[in-house]
Amino acid sequence: MNDNITSLTRKELKDLKVLLQFTAVYCANRHTSDRAAVITAEPDLLSLSLHKYPVCKECSDFLLYAFERRLRCPLEEKPICKHCTVHCYKPGHRDKVREIMRFSGQYLIKRGRLDLLWHYFF
Ligand SMILES: [Zn+2]
Repeated sequence: MNDNITSLTRKELKDLKVLLQFTAVYCANRHTSDRAAVITAEPDLLSLSLHKYPVCKECSDFLLYAFERRLRCPLEEKPICKHCTVHCYKPGHRDKVREIMRFSGQYLIKRGRLDLLWHYFF
């Protein structure tokens, strides 16, 4: 077992927060299952205000997997995952990230929430 967990940087926490926000938007518009806050024991993730972004079970599993991967990234200098050479995500995961970002990106643009996109791209 590799339990070599490192703390997340501010940049990484920001990335995960964006993924959390975008997934919550996606879930609210695409999924009809009951939603609840993502439950995690990772201290680093508590600062993300998980209770503000309830998602369904499927999206919760998706987010926990993404958080897990980031917490256990083997690279010393963690690149933004979309530029990563390791590709630690399981098949299908990156496609789902792309789908969520595309859907929620368009959704937020239509509603003038460019402030959220701004945080993502800059
Ligand atoms: Zn969902």
